Amino acid sequence: MFKITPQCSVCKKEIQANEEIFVKMRYPETKGMTEIKAFIKYQGKIICEVCLNK
Ligand SMILES: [Zn+2]
Repeated sequence: MFKITPQCSVCKKEIQANEEIFVKMRYPETKGMTEIKAFIKYQGKIICEVCLNK
């Protein structure tokens, strides 16, 4: 699980456990899951299912 507080970047709603989400992000140039997690935290845009289906 993420150590961040996930929040929808559209409606600012907090993402609940087991909620399906969409993360829009650039794939990092450096390799590895650590970088990907950092990218989600700093650059990733989390979109909740409700906003995704709008
Ligand atoms: Zn939303």
